[in-house]
Amino acid sequence: MTATTLFEKIWRAHEVIAETSDAPAVLYVDLHLTHEVTTPQAFEVLRRRGLKVRRPDRTVGTMDHSTPTLADELYGRVPIRLESAARQVREFERNCAEFGVELLGIDHPDRGIVHIIGPELGLTQPGMTIVCGDSHTSTHGAFGALAFGIGTTEVGHVLATQCLLQRKPSTLAVNVEGALGRGVTAKDLVLAIIQRLGVAGGTGSVIEYRGATIRALSMDERMTVCNMSIEAGARAGLVAPDDTTFAYLAGRPRAPAGAAWDAAVAGWRQLASDPGARFDREVALDAARLAPMITYGTNPGMSVAIDGAIPLRPGDAIHGKALEYMGLAPGQRMLGQPIETVFIGSCTNARLSDLRAAAAVLRGRHAARGVRLLVVPGSQRIKREAEREGLDRVFTAAGAEWRESGCSMCLGMNGDLVARGAYCVSTSNRNFEGRQGVGARTLLASPVTAAAAAIQGRIADPREFLG
Ligand code: SF4
Repeated sequence: MTATTLFEKIWRAHEVIAETSDAPAVLYVDLHLTHEVTTPQAFEVLRRRGLKVRRPDRTVGTMDHSTPTLADELYGRVPIRLESAARQVREFERNCAEFGVELLGIDHPDRGIVHIIGPELGLTQPGMTIVCGDSHTSTHGAFGALAFGIGTTEVGHVLATQCLLQRKPSTLAVNVEGALGRGVTAKDLVLAIIQRLGVAGGTGSVIEYRGATIRALSMDERMTVCNMSIEAGARAGLVAPDDTTFAYLAGRPRAPAGAAWDAAVAGWRQLASDPGARFDREVALDAARLAPMITYGTNPGMSVAIDGAIPLRPGDAIHGKALEYMGLAPGQRMLGQPIETVFIGSCTNARLSDLRAAAAVLRGRHAARGVRLLVVPGSQRIKREAEREGLDRVFTAAGAEWRESGCSMCLGMNGDLVARGAYCVSTSNRNFEGRQGVGARTLLASPVTAAAAAIQGRIADPREFLG
């Protein structure tokens, strides 16, 4: 029998019709995650054509992108400030009710960022195909699920048919060996991988992250890595499920239980690339050589070690334009660069472990004068757990704003924005021009690097703040 990759195994198990030179494959979708921003047109198409949602039992909705993070606005004590956000929230409530889709709505205790609640509730499981109208659906690949971001038109297709038209991606193995050093996190690892591959290096492929370093990561850390696969241009990222995965899922509300759990785990154990399976491309990385990373430009591939300098790239127009937007210069060292805002949040780095890591740096310290520090948990569950541990008090004592869950300043659709021209150290995943607000200058980094910057009011080495 031919040795097969993990990707190939999942693909074959979900292929309804194989692709031909003229037509993409028809792929069955196990789980469709939906939210208020990329669904209104899709539901409207269904309504116009008299169609139902094909599998409401395989479709779950949450509210995250445009929801307010201030409790008064969120819970209706004052009106939602942004009319566009209020409209999307109301419309999604109406659509889910009309089409019989389960909604973890505004008041629901399990509401949160779509890529955080899927795993947290045990909806995300190994071997599944998962889609959502958001690029960072790749997050779910941390469980050995094939998870794609899809466009609004495709959201409509999946709602109506539970299938997706897809060209078969190629395979790329990223093999990582070596222990991560002190203060070097999964975020630094994935920024280094993107720097190595380039922002188009993974185009058309599904990345499988492999090697001892990946095996040693927690599920939260694997999610951070898979989350940013899309930033290297990949369709998806995958980590083969193992005992770490099963331990995370055991007992989650929507995970199988009892005999069904045993049967599921037995099946999930088969989900690994066979020894000798061939990938279309392989890349190797030594994690032991990495330092904490920070971006300096306007895509996530433009990053340097925290104690490094911005590269000189004479003649590179894209690099020059990015630095002009960022107000930074080639050869400039990143350490010491003043910053105005710090955002700890997003589907990349707003899980409980991320908040604990940031709190460990901030405990007993205060943000520098003039720095705005916004901490937004990834879900209401995480918010409750963090409050149970007293992390909220660590953050507020450090001068932070502690908010309700949501995407928030990752993209600012809810009005949580960075001021024009201001520098924001952000634990999110995109530093594109204007992503956090018109003229905002985003510097992507880990939660510990973000916390260190908040304290200093300038870019600082997190290793100096860790015990
Ligand atoms: S936190 Fe950012 S990247 Fe993640 S789902 Fe929300 S908007 Fe998308």
